[in-house]
Formats: sequence, C-alpha cells, structure tokens
Amino acid sequence: VTREDATEDRKFRASYEDVGGLDKELQRVREMIELPLKYPEIFRHLGVDAPKGVLLYGPPGTGKTLMARAVASETNAAFLHVNGPEIINKFYGESEARLREMFETAQRRAPAIIFIDEIDAIAPKRTDVIGDVEKRVVAQLLALMDGLKNRGQVIVIGATNVPDMVDPALRRPGRFDRELSINPPDRPGRLRILKIHTRDMTTDSNIDLEKLAQITHGFVGADLAILCKEAGMNAVRRLLPQINFMSGISEEDLAGLKVSMDDF
Ligand code: ATP
Repeated sequence: VTREDATEDRKFRASYEDVGGLDKELQRVREMIELPLKYPEIFRHLGVDAPKGVLLYGPPGTGKTLMARAVASETNAAFLHVNGPEIINKFYGESEARLREMFETAQRRAPAIIFIDEIDAIAPKRTDVIGDVEKRVVAQLLALMDGLKNRGQVIVIGATNVPDMVDPALRRPGRFDRELSINPPDRPGRLRILKIHTRDMTTDSNIDLEKLAQITHGFVGADLAILCKEAGMNAVRRLLPQINFMSGISEEDLAGLKVSMDDF
C-alpha cells in the first residue's frame, strides 16, 4: 500500500448512513457489489457470475460517487478513484499506463473497487469522431476488464451523466453488464438528505426541514449539501460579532440563498 493510496482511502470514507433518498438504489448496489466482495465462495459455489462492472448513470450531484465510496468503506474494500477526463488530459501519453497501474493496484489490494468518474470521457462511442488517445484508452480499459481474474473481488464502477455517449462495447456481458440509474431526489428523499447534512449542525427550532424539502424541487444532493453549508456560513457571519454560542442556524440564514423564504 503506497502512502498515496492510504490517504485516498481515508479521504473517501463514507457510510450508508450518509446516502439519502436512494434506498432502493443502494440496496441494488449492495447486492451487486457488497455480496460478491464479501462472499465470493457463495457465488463460486452457486455458479453465479459476480459482476465485473457496474455503470451508474444520472445527473451530476445525485450521489454516484458517494454511493461508491460508501460501499467501499462499508466492505473495507480499497477505493481507487479514476477521473475520466483527467486520465485523458492530465496524463496525456501515459493514460493507458495509469489505467494498467490502477488495475494492478486493485488486484494487489483486493477486495477493491475501482471508481471511474465521467467514464464517457475515456470510453466515448467509437463511431463518434474521437482521437487516437481515446481509442487506445477504451481498448486498454476493455482489455483490463476482460483480463480481471478473481471475479467479484475487484469491481469497477463507472459513472456517467450521459449513458448514451458510452461505447456500447463497454456495456456487454463481462464488462459493465449491470446498470443503475440514479435520479434526482423526490421530496422525501430531499428531506432525508437535508437531515443528513444538518445532523451535526446546531439549528434553531424555527428551521422546518419538511418545508425546505418541499420548496427545493429540482435540487440534487450536492445542491442540498451546499445549501446547508451556506446557511451555516451565514450563521457564522451573523453570530461572530457577538460570539453567542447559545444560538443556532436560523431561518434568516437560509434567506437570500437559492431558496427564497417567500416560497414558504
Ligand atoms: P458527479 O456526476 O458530478 O460526479 P455524483 O453523482 O457523483 O456527481 P457526488 O459527488 O456523490 O455526486 O455528490 C457530491 C456531494 O453531494 C456528496 O459528497 C454529498 O455531500 C452530496 N450528496 C449528493 N447526493 C447525495 C445523497 N443522495 N445523499 C446525501 N448527500 C448527497
């Protein structure tokens, strides 16, 4: 384990409790990933193929990364994060080598989850006009996935906002053969997420999370997380002159943020 990997793991720790409004999706992810990671012998015994790859798709900020991190943490699996555009651009010329290293590290540290964010950047449809780099990187990724031994012990999770843009070759059996759509939260989902992001905050009794959930239609998890953080910062600014630790975050602190209190 290199120091870099170890730091990554700590930075990416999350629990199932941190994921709101995605109960069904989380359950599916757990079945697809947690069970084979934990009980590979049962899959072998039953002759059931554990997935090698799972594709999560949906709008940005809905919790795809968070879910992947949570499954890794909860199963004590190593978590290796690959950013699609970064591997193409930042490591220009060494993209394939970086990918190979990732897979090698994952196999060495199995059980492991390789998370490829914005996978459409490295595996766009080959019929689209794409450069040589992308072509080589897709081919390398496919070869690495085909070559994965220890089914179930190394699982690749790909995330994308544009599933239709992903090379169909990637979605064949033995590659990313399970897919799950992660949608923006409904009202109860938003309430769960708001509760998660305010659970460690001190809030005044006039804060009504139910109402807030109602008027934040269209907000994804990431938006709600920012909303809570910004309200918290407003409270800091308001309270700092008096340093009054008896007060908490209040409705005033929410006013002026993306949500207008007129909506109440
Ligand atoms: P992207 O496609 O932009 O990478 P994503 O779907 O991977 O987005 P995350 O990176 O998981 O989204 O979300 C960003 C942050 O927003 C999370 O770290 C978390 O704080 C918050 N968040 C998003 N979705 C949820 C959720 N369902 N429950 C709780 N928090 C969430």
